[in-house]
Amino acid sequence: MRVKVWGCRGSLAAPGPETVRYGGNTSCVEVRAADGRLIVIDAGTGIRGLGQSLVDHLPGRVDILLTHLHLDHIEGLGFFSRIWEAGAEIHLWGPPDPPLSLRDRVTTYFSPPLFPVHLQDVPSHLAFHDVPAEPWEIGGVTVSAASVNHPGPTLGYRLEEAGKVLAYISDHEPALGVPDLATAEPGHVSGTGLALGADALFHDAQYTEDEYPHRVGWGHSSIAHMVSFARLSKVRHLLMFHHDPMHSDADLEAMLLRARALWGPDVDGVSLSYEGMELEVT
Ligand SMILES: [Zn+2]
Ligand SMILES: [Zn+2]
Repeated sequence: MRVKVWGCRGSLAAPGPETVRYGGNTSCVEVRAADGRLIVIDAGTGIRGLGQSLVDHLPGRVDILLTHLHLDHIEGLGFFSRIWEAGAEIHLWGPPDPPLSLRDRVTTYFSPPLFPVHLQDVPSHLAFHDVPAEPWEIGGVTVSAASVNHPGPTLGYRLEEAGKVLAYISDHEPALGVPDLATAEPGHVSGTGLALGADALFHDAQYTEDEYPHRVGWGHSSIAHMVSFARLSKVRHLLMFHHDPMHSDADLEAMLLRARALWGPDVDGVSLSYEGMELEVT
């Protein structure tokens, strides 16, 4: 799988001179399977740039995996160029939330006054899928989804191809209700089944350890919780993701140093996600 980050900011887009190095667009990650199939994880404001990059290379089908329907993960959808092309086939996957279907919930966003166009007037072919409980195939990629600790129905994803694993848990508070995450039994901690043994994990890196105690229950991780979670899950490469909109580039770099100190001697095992970042999970 080839992976490219189009947005890694959390909660709210945060453009400006303080965020140029890591970017201000909200969550969106492009995954290309070995056969070229396009899988997009989350449709934050970063998906606009992804759509622009496809102008000269149009895949017939796009699969978009939504972790949840907080605005920072769907607000780019109406600005994704493929959605306005009649020939495009777009499959949206998201968490079940009965009795409402995924289409019902996305319609809330795609309707005035929040958005000028109604969903039924979108020209592309949109197919909506509540994620199944069992893994499923998109091209040669096996995708699994599971609920994780975050307010409202929220998923993390695990993508596997040719024995390699990419995990994505953008909004996650694994420490909630766990006395000591570092020594917890992995099977009892939210998200570990998705991340176990991952070659690369995009994970919530929202708060410093000083900030977290004032934000317990908001659905995000401190740097220490993020590292403990990744260690517990035996992750090879941890990619800090969902940067707080209040954090400048300099703040993020200080958080990276703290994460590496907690991680141990193999400092390359932890990186900050940034807009435009590319990696191979092969
Ligand atoms: Zn978010
Ligand atoms: Zn959220």
